[in-house]
Amino acid sequence: MTTEKDNIVLHVADVHKTFGGLHALSDIDLQIEEGKTHAIIGPNGAGKSTLLNVVVGRLAPTRGAVVFDGQVLTGKQPHEINQVGVARVFQTPEIFPDLTVIQNVMAPAFARRDGSFTLNFFKSIDDETEIREEAEHMLEDVGMTASKDMLAGSLSRGDKRRMELAMCLIQHPRLLLLDEPTAGMSRHDTNTTIDLLKKIKERGMTKVIIEHDMHVVFSLADKISVLAGGRIIAEGTPEEVRNNPKVQEAYLGGAH
Ligand code: ADP
Ligand code: MG
Repeated sequence: MTTEKDNIVLHVADVHKTFGGLHALSDIDLQIEEGKTHAIIGPNGAGKSTLLNVVVGRLAPTRGAVVFDGQVLTGKQPHEINQVGVARVFQTPEIFPDLTVIQNVMAPAFARRDGSFTLNFFKSIDDETEIREEAEHMLEDVGMTASKDMLAGSLSRGDKRRMELAMCLIQHPRLLLLDEPTAGMSRHDTNTTIDLLKKIKERGMTKVIIEHDMHVVFSLADKISVLAGGRIIAEGTPEEVRNNPKVQEAYLGGAH
């Protein structure tokens, strides 16, 4: 299977997902361009997280396929999808609370190198200079150098998210998926995260960002797809989407 355009890195092709009688996703066709930041917005319950979970292999679509860089991902396990260059930050932070911040950031680098981090991780973590140095660099990028020896479980929600971002960056993914990366953050932390995501963009990494906060979306997105009731109801540049009456209606009619 090939994608229509050369610059399409991710193609979600005619995806449906039902949960019992509920149509969480219907007729989803989404093309993500290389190097771009593509935002997916929509009211609560629109299907945004379901879509992301289908892309990363946590949920199997009822119909349709996900194609990444010409390769069909549908049917692959989450860790296999991760190995081909797709990294993600989930809505609820997934971290190792009893490890330090720097150990958390080192863990995915071990997993990437060895296929699994459990075998060698605890044995060799103290003498892995190269991975440690890279992890320190990533923590510097996300502004968390001062917290590197803290236990991850003791971090604020905002700091956990930033640490997760560092855990993604150390994998050097081609595609980064973010589910509400600024949820629960103060305005100050949100702005720091926006700056960080802009910096990542300059490096050419493709991003799909699910976001509730319009300030974040309009600061970052090249293109926006609007999801409501499991369907894409609008798509375009931030300007086009902002002025689309269907979008305004979906938000006003949304469950808020
Ligand atoms: P969003 O992230 O846009 O808020 P979700 O993708 O979480 O929306 O949910 C879309 C719809 O699918 C909601 O009605 C939700 O209740 C339902 N849903 C999500 N996950 C499941 C599941 N595992 N089982 C049953 N229903 C689900
Ligand atoms: Mg969600």
